[in-house]
This record gives sequence, structure tokens and C-alpha cells, in this order.
Amino acid sequence: MKAAGFRFLRARCVAEALALKAEHGEDARFIAGGQSLVPALNLRLLEPRALIDIAGLPELTGIRVERGRLVIGALTRHAALTGDPLVAAHAPLLLEALPYVAHAAIRNRGTFGGSIALADPAAEWPACCLALDATMVLTGPHAEGERRVPATEFFRGLYATALGPDDLLLRVEIPCQPAGTRNAALELARRHGDFAIVGVAATASDRELKDARIAFFGVADRPMRFAEVERALAVEGVSAAAEALARQVDPPADLYHSAATKRHLAGVLLRRAVDRLRGAA
Ligand SMILES: Cc1cc2nc3c(=O)[nH]c(=O)nc-3n(C[C@H](O)[C@H](O)[C@H](O)COP(=O)(O)OP(=O)(O)OC[C@H]3O[C@@H](n4cnc5c(N)ncnc54)[C@H](O)[C@@H]3O)c2cc1C
Repeated sequence: MKAAGFRFLRARCVAEALALKAEHGEDARFIAGGQSLVPALNLRLLEPRALIDIAGLPELTGIRVERGRLVIGALTRHAALTGDPLVAAHAPLLLEALPYVAHAAIRNRGTFGGSIALADPAAEWPACCLALDATMVLTGPHAEGERRVPATEFFRGLYATALGPDDLLLRVEIPCQPAGTRNAALELARRHGDFAIVGVAATASDRELKDARIAFFGVADRPMRFAEVERALAVEGVSAAAEALARQVDPPADLYHSAATKRHLAGVLLRRAVDRLRGAA
């Protein structure tokens, strides 16, 4: 199928993007890398009358460090993270997760912020943001300047976030991880490059895992941390954590996997992630 007709409007700066959105309202959609939006248009799941191209906004690209935070512009393409020295130094969890994000061609066009704005429950970046205690910086036509929303409050449900319909995600800020922080990003998928059946993104300051932050994806309508699992891991060890996970997690079945299968796979990934966190700095 082909997309329904639409106007294509290219914004040259954030103010212009917001003005175009205010002018066209619900009939318009922002388009960044187009790797999720274009398939949805072609399947006619969405039929906006206008697309506002934000891909060229200079304010929203690039990776830098500011005041102890790694700042990733929303329009930074997935592939741009590859081998980036700042990412390697300050948030290496992202580099562990990167090979799982789609295929090379999609990583070349799709954007970090597009994935977070879309909030697919089986996507890697939202879970990494939760594990890394990231903050999303947004703006919109009605907001006074910028709004800062922690990852814990940003993801609100199935493809639902703190972004209002006219808001733009500007950047993501991640506290720089101290050297020696341990990380693990793992997932199970039917084929490499597919969205995960179940995945995990985890970080801890040392091999004791007293402060492990373990975010699961593909197990709920949004990325999830389970306080009881992290507490059990810190106090009693991995078996107690796996038991807590089995009690806490209630994954939705999909076409191929029952809830029980996903629950089991989440436990398998938890144990592998703990091995990885304990094994290597
Ligand atoms: C075959 C295939 C496999 C894939 N596998 C994976 C995978 O394994 N893991 C994964 O994470 N992703 C996967 N993806 C999705 C891919 O990562 C997309 O690049 C990403 O989800 C969306 O980024 P985008 O820049 O292409 O956004 P677009 O498609 O341009 O936009 C997606 C949505 O986000 C909104 N949006 C985009 N940027 C902003 C912004 N800055 N502010 C506000 N709203 C914004 C758009 O309006 C739209 O609603 C896959 C895609 C395909 C086609």
C-alpha cells in the first residue's frame, strides 16, 4: 500500500516546527527519521494531512557532555552512537544495547529521540533511559520554555509518553556514569534486528549489585523496573530476585508468545544480566 496524500513542510528551527504544528494541529505529525512513521503511513494506520520534517533542526543533533551529564540531541541517529567516545566513556550501556536496535539501514536513518517519542514497549532506548536515570527535555507551543521529565515519569503506557500532541522532544540528558560502572544489555528476539520479545538493560556501580538498576522491556506496556526485584537481588541474591520477578511481572501475550513464556524468558535474562554485571567492569 501507499500512504495517503499529505503536505510536506520542512522546519528550519524549533520555533518554526512548533509554529507549523500549532497552525496544522492534529492534522500534522512531526517526522524525524521516518523509520516508524513511514511504515505506519504506508499501512494507512495514520493519515495525517501534513508532515513537519524536523530532521534538519540543528539544535536537536549531536552528543556532548554538560555539567556532568551526557546530552544526546533527539535527532541524533542511532548509528551516530557507534564508537562515540563520549557515549563510550559516560554511558557505555547504550553501546551494549545499540546492536540490538533494528538493522543497520534503519539505524542509519532512525533517531534516538524518535524511538523515545514513539515509546514502543519492546524498544531498547526507553529501557536504557530508565536504567540510566535519564531526563527528557521537551518543549511545546503552550509551555513556558523547556520542561524536564525524568524517565520514570516520561513513559506512561502503550506508545504513550509525557509528550503532548504538539510537543517536541529536544534532547535526553543522562548522568555521566562513574568509571568502572557495570552494564548489561541483553534481549531475546525471533530474528536479529526484530523488536525484542523480552529484553533487559541494567547497570550497577560494582559487583555487589547493591544499587543495581534493572529495566525490562517487552514485559509490559512500557519499560519497567521492579523495586522488589532489585531489593531481593541486593539482599538475598539472584534466585530471590528471579522469584520476585516471577511474582511481579505480568507480560501481555503476543501472537507468538504466551505470558508464561515471556515471564520465563524475563527470568532467564535476569540471571544472564546478573552474571554479566558481576563478571566484567
Ligand atoms: C523493520 C524495523 C525494525 C525495527 N526494530 C527496532 C528495534 O529492534 N528496536 C527499536 O528501538 N526500534 C526499532 N525500529 C524502529 C526504529 O528504531 C525507529 O527509528 C524509531 O523507532 C523511530 O525513530 P524515527 O527517527 O525513525 O522516528 P519517526 O518514524 O520519524 O517518528 C516516530 C514517531 O515519533 C514522533 N517523533 C519523532 N521524533 C520526535 C521528536 N523529536 N519530538 C516529538 N515527536 C517525535 C513522530 O511524530 C512519530 O509519531 C524498527 C523499525 C523497523 C522499520
